[in-house]
Amino acid sequence: MKITRRHLMTGAAGAGIIAAGVGIHSFSWNQRDFTRRGYLEGAPEAPPGKASWMNWAGIERATPDEISFPDSVEALAEKVRSAKGRVRPVGSGHSFTGLATTDDTLIMLNGLSGLQAFDEVTGEARFGAGTPLFQVSKDLAMRGRALDNQPDIDSQTLAGAFATATHGTGNQLPALHDNIIAFEFVTADGRLLQVTRDSDADLFEAGKVSLGALGVMTSFTLRSAPAYRLKRTVTVEDSRDFLERLPETAEAHRNFEFYYFPCTGLVATISHDVTDEAPSEETGTDDDDFLMGLKQLRDQLGWAPPLRKMIARSEFPRGVVEQRVDESRMLLSTVRPTRFIEMEYHMPRDRGPETVRRIMRLLDDRGEIFFPMEYRHIAPDTAWLSPFNAAPRASIAVHAAVNEAYDYFFTDFEPVFLKAGGRPHWGKLHSLGRAELTKLYPDYERFLELRRELDPRGKFLNAHLAKLFGETLDA
Ligand SMILES: Cc1cc2nc3c(=O)[nH]c(=O)nc-3n(C[C@H](O)[C@H](O)[C@H](O)COP(=O)(O)OP(=O)(O)OC[C@H]3O[C@@H](n4cnc5c(N)ncnc54)[C@H](O)[C@@H]3O)c2cc1C
Repeated sequence: MKITRRHLMTGAAGAGIIAAGVGIHSFSWNQRDFTRRGYLEGAPEAPPGKASWMNWAGIERATPDEISFPDSVEALAEKVRSAKGRVRPVGSGHSFTGLATTDDTLIMLNGLSGLQAFDEVTGEARFGAGTPLFQVSKDLAMRGRALDNQPDIDSQTLAGAFATATHGTGNQLPALHDNIIAFEFVTADGRLLQVTRDSDADLFEAGKVSLGALGVMTSFTLRSAPAYRLKRTVTVEDSRDFLERLPETAEAHRNFEFYYFPCTGLVATISHDVTDEAPSEETGTDDDDFLMGLKQLRDQLGWAPPLRKMIARSEFPRGVVEQRVDESRMLLSTVRPTRFIEMEYHMPRDRGPETVRRIMRLLDDRGEIFFPMEYRHIAPDTAWLSPFNAAPRASIAVHAAVNEAYDYFFTDFEPVFLKAGGRPHWGKLHSLGRAELTKLYPDYERFLELRRELDPRGKFLNAHLAKLFGETLDA
């Protein structure tokens, strides 16, 4: 997006001059330290003989006995079968929740990645479970194919993305796991199971989104789409005008999402539509610089909300700020160099507009959040633990800087999401346990039963999963 930090700061500096004299408020705001108490930078220091791991956001940290990198299905099966303690598979560590954390054995599937088979006629492709999404889309592109949708970034592994129901956006587009045709996984006792809808319909629907709790996935066979080119259009406009048109606007585009810039009354809408136009020459945007501009506006003018809003509104460009044409994989996912912490809930689609209005008001009231809020639409699917199971959903995500407080996500935003019938993103912050989840998912108890059958001794459990499943860790 072409709004630079310099752009915003020129305005903020001007405002600072205008505001001189109301110094007492600005002084106390400027003295405020937004750094979260207990914030730690870098991975934990491991005692001798232990390994060190942390997730992308740095809020899940562990010093496991071992980080294992099996390079074959046989080696993986033996590692899992013979493990004395608990075992957790991990992908790129991009989940914000404690799904993968363990002090025992962490298993990474970098050695089981890449394209394993491709059917020229159907476009079906089998990949190792540890393949990162960017590699999947590149391998498919080389064969004239593509994923039908992608999330905001493409660093996640296939297994990690599917395990948490990772999604992109688009009224008619389901989450990524809906493209699974078959999968193979290693069970707690070291067996390799091959699963399709025909071989075992229950295990198929339970396994597509399974939080790494049924076993360690080794490969996935996926549907792919013929390669397609997209045109991206980014527009900045007044949030009140836009919200009146939200449902029709989302319906009008293949992929549609919007971001709200807290305390500005402005949104950036982003649409992607299929096109035959030639790819744009210009590449890359300055989103990171823009974020730092929003942070500085918060830091310098957060004490004077009307002034902060006025400066943002006078400095932000309006209308179409970016148009680009490229292959789908180049546009649907971008990079996020600035780290953050996130909560995302998926509401029934028709509750989306009213819920997002509430969340936007709360963001404005709090004042301290500068990260944009994201709103997306996802089509339904059939996986038991998919938040999109059975009906279309609208997703709302709030973010805080990686080193700042986020405790208010649970007190301010989560109750609003829950009241609207929201289901949490499995890989993003939430506080729910078995009692709440059972009410949100018709097949939750069936999943728990199946999990107990496959892993009666809880080899794949950790504290986070034990809470989700209502289990005790020493069972
Ligand atoms: C910057 C950023 C942007 C993001 N954007 C989006 C987005 O646009 N849409 C969205 O929906 N989410 C998004 N996410 C969330 C992310 O897609 C999910 O958290 C995803 O699970 C991360 O994949 P991973 O490979 O890092 O898996 P991890 O976080 O490492 O693991 C996730 C789960 O997968 C399990 N797992 C990993 N490998 C295996 C295996 N081989 N077998 C069985 N289980 C396994 C783990 O045990 C764990 O339960 C984003 C996260 C970040 C940090």
